[in-house]
Amino acid sequence: MQHQAKKRYGQNFLRDKNLLKKIVNQSHILNKDVIEVGPGQGALTSFLAEQAHQLTCFEIDTSLKSILDPIEEQYDNLEIIYKDFMTADLTDLGDDLHVVANVPYYITTPIIFKLIETPQIKTASLMIQKEVCERLIAKPGTKAYNNLSVVMAYHAHVYKMMDVKRHMFVPQPNVDSAVIRIEKRDKALLDPKAEKIFISIVRTAFKQKRKTLVNNWFEAYQIPKEDIINFLKSFDINENIRAEKIAIEQFMKLAGAWTYDI
Ligand code: SAM
Repeated sequence: MQHQAKKRYGQNFLRDKNLLKKIVNQSHILNKDVIEVGPGQGALTSFLAEQAHQLTCFEIDTSLKSILDPIEEQYDNLEIIYKDFMTADLTDLGDDLHVVANVPYYITTPIIFKLIETPQIKTASLMIQKEVCERLIAKPGTKAYNNLSVVMAYHAHVYKMMDVKRHMFVPQPNVDSAVIRIEKRDKALLDPKAEKIFISIVRTAFKQKRKTLVNNWFEAYQIPKEDIINFLKSFDINENIRAEKIAIEQFMKLAGAWTYDI
């Protein structure tokens, strides 16, 4: 069946069976309830259905239905819902959900935030742009380290499962990819009040990467610079430091002691 790939839906399809099997095997979904975002032409879908307890797929492009219908008929544990994943309600799908997806790149970050904010979702194995993957797993002091790296490490254990070259996709995108594994923490690391402060101070700390932490926080919160400098000093942190040098543990300590308005 012929299908013209739609750029606006981020359609870059996978074909290589070895790669698909490798992704599914490393996603640890045996007998689990699984969600696939964007089954496309079903390349991953059959492999997922063979291992999952229940597989629910969300596909925005209804023109793929004629290709996906025969696959859906083949598996009793597979349901394909033709809906935008971003607005889909996941509450009835169980409370131990695992997402596997070759993500449409135009909504990579919103998808990751939806996964983080949905408590029933426990793990995600996602094909994303390599550059975004590097940022999400980056360590302090490296160029890729940013707001997202810290927020991600706060919510989950993250690691790269594998690199995937651009020529593995049809049509071929302009960037290489990687599969990232996100294993969410069972319990929040901070209480809700400190968490809110943490998210805010991390976001503002990286607002302008070349500026110091003091300057970024001064601009964000209008706190006198002297106060910020003294606050940092009480943690033995140099006043000229930039956010890229601060590890998540330090940000958490700072959030716990923060007394200013955010
Ligand atoms: N899983 C297939 C594969 O690996 O070959 C297709 C992957 S392709 C990168 C992304 C898929 O997500 C496309 O089928 C696209 O139509 C679908 N998609 C795009 N935006 C979506 C959305 N908001 N909700 C659900 N599916 C979406």
